[in-house]
Amino acid sequence: MTGLLWEIFNILKEVLNRTIKLPELLLTLVGFRSTKKLRLRVVILRDERGVPLATNEEALPAYEEARRILARTAGVTVEPAGWRVVTAPHGAPKAALDVRCTDGAWQDDLGQAGAFFRDLMAKSTGGTLVGYGAPLTVFVVRSMSTHNGCSLGPAADYVTVEAKTLRGTRRLLAHEVAHACGLWHTKNPANLMFPRGPGEELTHMQAAVLRTSRHVTHF
Ligand SMILES: [Zn+2]
Repeated sequence: MTGLLWEIFNILKEVLNRTIKLPELLLTLVGFRSTKKLRLRVVILRDERGVPLATNEEALPAYEEARRILARTAGVTVEPAGWRVVTAPHGAPKAALDVRCTDGAWQDDLGQAGAFFRDLMAKSTGGTLVGYGAPLTVFVVRSMSTHNGCSLGPAADYVTVEAKTLRGTRRLLAHEVAHACGLWHTKNPANLMFPRGPGEELTHMQAAVLRTSRHVTHF
């Protein structure tokens, strides 16, 4: 499938999922909140020479931070999709190593970078990428033209984070994962969806939206 078909397919899945889960969203808002699961993994890319952009030990704290924040603020248990952190098996093309964000993340997704990311995701999930409960993949990239992390929201099953920022800003991973689960930016500095800073709170509405993402399941 081409990148455009994937985007359309993901958006259709998102609309269907959100429609089906509207009653659950309303129930969550009035206080029903059983623990749900999100399957997540981090894939560290290798540069053109085959050198990993980060070590597993450098990426793990951000993974664990996402786990802690989502459990506390949304009642969502993050589980590894096979493994928590893994290094890509071979070097990535430049388009996937140095990605764009607000100035071209969609074009990247439609081009060589998106194709490379989807190929890696399909291989690492044994082809079970499609559908409800699809795991989310965080790709650790070399550089980003704007921002330090990027998400196409529910239109993609992956997000990207910059290697050097991931080492110092653990919250970044949780923030991008929340974008992929349907959340957008807020103006409250204490909130996880404030673009910068240490904030990690979610409102009831944000928690309900995140919990009813197609990536978040009961079992
Ligand atoms: Zn953001």
